[in-house]
Amino acid sequence: MPPRAADASVSGAALGPVARGWPGVGAQLAGRLAKLDILRPEDLVLHLPLRYEDETRLTAIAVARPGFPAQIEGEVVSCEVTLRPRRQLVARVRDASGTLVARWLNFYPSQQQMLAPGRRVRLFGEVRGGFFGDEMVHPRVRAVEADEGLPEALTPVYPTTAGLGQATLRKLIDRTLTSVALDDPLPPAVCARLGLPAFAEAVRALHHPAPDADSPALEDREHPAWRRIKFEELLVQQLSLRRAYNARRARGAVSLPARNELTAAMARQLPFRLTGAQARAAAEIAADLAAAHPMQRLLQGDVGSGKTIVAALAMLQAAENGYQAALMAPTEILAEQHWKKLVAWLEPLGLQVAWLSGSRRKREREAELDRLRSGEVLLAVGTHALIEDPVNLPRLALAVVDEQHRFGVRQRLALREKGSGGLRPHMLMMSATPIPRTLAMTHYADLDVSVLDELPPGRTPIRTKLVSDARREEVMGRVREACRKGHQAYWVCPLIEESEALQLQTAIDTFEALSAALPELRVGLLHGRLKADEKSATMAAFAAHALDVLVATTVIEVGVDVPNANLMVIEHAERFGLAQLHQLRGRVGRGSAESVCILIYAQPLSETGRERLKVIYENTDGFEIARADLRIRGPGEFVGARQSGLPLLRYASLEDDIDLIEPARELAEQMLSASPQAAERLMARWLGGREALLRA
Ligand code: ADP
Ligand code: MG
Repeated sequence: MPPRAADASVSGAALGPVARGWPGVGAQLAGRLAKLDILRPEDLVLHLPLRYEDETRLTAIAVARPGFPAQIEGEVVSCEVTLRPRRQLVARVRDASGTLVARWLNFYPSQQQMLAPGRRVRLFGEVRGGFFGDEMVHPRVRAVEADEGLPEALTPVYPTTAGLGQATLRKLIDRTLTSVALDDPLPPAVCARLGLPAFAEAVRALHHPAPDADSPALEDREHPAWRRIKFEELLVQQLSLRRAYNARRARGAVSLPARNELTAAMARQLPFRLTGAQARAAAEIAADLAAAHPMQRLLQGDVGSGKTIVAALAMLQAAENGYQAALMAPTEILAEQHWKKLVAWLEPLGLQVAWLSGSRRKREREAELDRLRSGEVLLAVGTHALIEDPVNLPRLALAVVDEQHRFGVRQRLALREKGSGGLRPHMLMMSATPIPRTLAMTHYADLDVSVLDELPPGRTPIRTKLVSDARREEVMGRVREACRKGHQAYWVCPLIEESEALQLQTAIDTFEALSAALPELRVGLLHGRLKADEKSATMAAFAAHALDVLVATTVIEVGVDVPNANLMVIEHAERFGLAQLHQLRGRVGRGSAESVCILIYAQPLSETGRERLKVIYENTDGFEIARADLRIRGPGEFVGARQSGLPLLRYASLEDDIDLIEPARELAEQMLSASPQAAERLMARWLGGREALLRA
């Protein structure tokens, strides 16, 4: 049989060879199902409708309302393929009240046959006024006999992929619902308390809504059957995170007890005292490091909250015990800045710090590598260069990843693998991207978290101003004024996502314009295309106040710390995301002088652009901003940034189903200790073989 572009058939005769032991599903169909992540019959049970359509009623053509889905039934009057304005299938269908045109831009021979003149068909779609009169574009079409009855219940519509029709999916799912076990591992008491139906009942209700089902609740996913599915999904997520957590605690790591020798010496040398939050986080980390199983901790603190020093203390604790620690940062600029800080803090204590980056000369690099390999140097700072092949840290006991969301799982794992000897290093991840509570309870539940919820004292709050781009001149005046008072300024050029070349050009143009407009000021330019040593020289010049203004692309977004800079200008602020704006703004407000952040925007503003600017204008607290971000964008990007390979939630939503998260957490805990087999069965149902995905 030649391959057909239309519906892959499920009826017995047409089936190809049995794929992967799934009877009745041929290789081609199996391939299409796999695109939907349906790899086993059980996955079909959880392939739930995207929405429902009401095919229980027919609408007369004459009264179908434009813009609303409707089902009409009639006789095909004509059907032809036309070539203008482009190739399409055009059919006219008539009922007692009128005539309607149906058009398909993509169509299959089977559809053409179904639409032969004289045949009766039902069309489901939205009516709208078109060039040929009332029309439906791409309606669903079905051949019917005269007087064929209407379905009694809502029709499920499934997510699907090319070549796999709704009818096929429906048939497959129906067959599966009667052939696989739909057992219920949840304690009936919990279900009763939460008002959730049994699993079998829930999936049947969703795949085959009853004629009297509460349709709005089904559509809005508020129906108890949906709640059951969402609860189970959240529960499985908690179970797998919990299990990963327990598995980690069962592994061995070097115990690094706090000796308070070097750490105390460094704390004494600092020109400031740790904030309460820093001391608390440092103590939590110190206790974790002393344990004989690997730490996996996220140190979360808003921009400027002082995470670096906390990391340095942890690294010293490793060194005190004669072990190595490595700190990886996402950009050359940031890595170098960290390295300089560590050198300033630690060399007086007699500790050397190796620095690895792509930009160092080969000879220097090799010398550093030798000293790390021999264990002579205990501390290392670097970019991705740290995880490259020749790097070997035989006594690595602590790996720190700064701005962890900038790295992929593989990179974080690679750093962990840099040690040797079988013991796992402790991991400390740092991030300024605050995780909203719901996310912390779900997607990040396998990590321990320390939070720096306090900024170092003496900071004056940053004032944020929104300025239309018509007032650019005025903004230049402010730059001049700030610099005349001995401060420094950043001027961030717009993000141009479509073209890196264009972005670069804009940066160069801005640099030239500012240099010309402010001849008395020393203006520098920093962008991603510069060579590493050029970047480093420019950054060092700015840090040393040999430059007054730094025109930059978003390369300065993370970590850059020059306390004397107190003015930040961001052009085309409406193009940046909230997290990015918050990070950029956080480059100022690091000294005691009052800082200002000027957001220049261009009209017209889109709805989300306006909303984002309002949020950033009204809030300085990273948690507030993250919450707003979650509301505007949904969790996808937060979670995507983690790139953990953890399955995303398919049905539960962190906004609508908050009330289910806590009960799911409690039950997960309880099931793992009281009924681990039921927990296994649940995880197998939802994750199949996918649970073994990487976690870092
Ligand atoms: P972030 O959390 O954004 O990484 P940093 O570690 O870069 O913050 O610290 C921001 C600035 O605050 C640095 O200049 C740092 O030296 C300073 N700092 C850190 N802790 C304190 C403190 N307890 N008191 C005063 N200044 C501090
Ligand atoms: Mg930092």
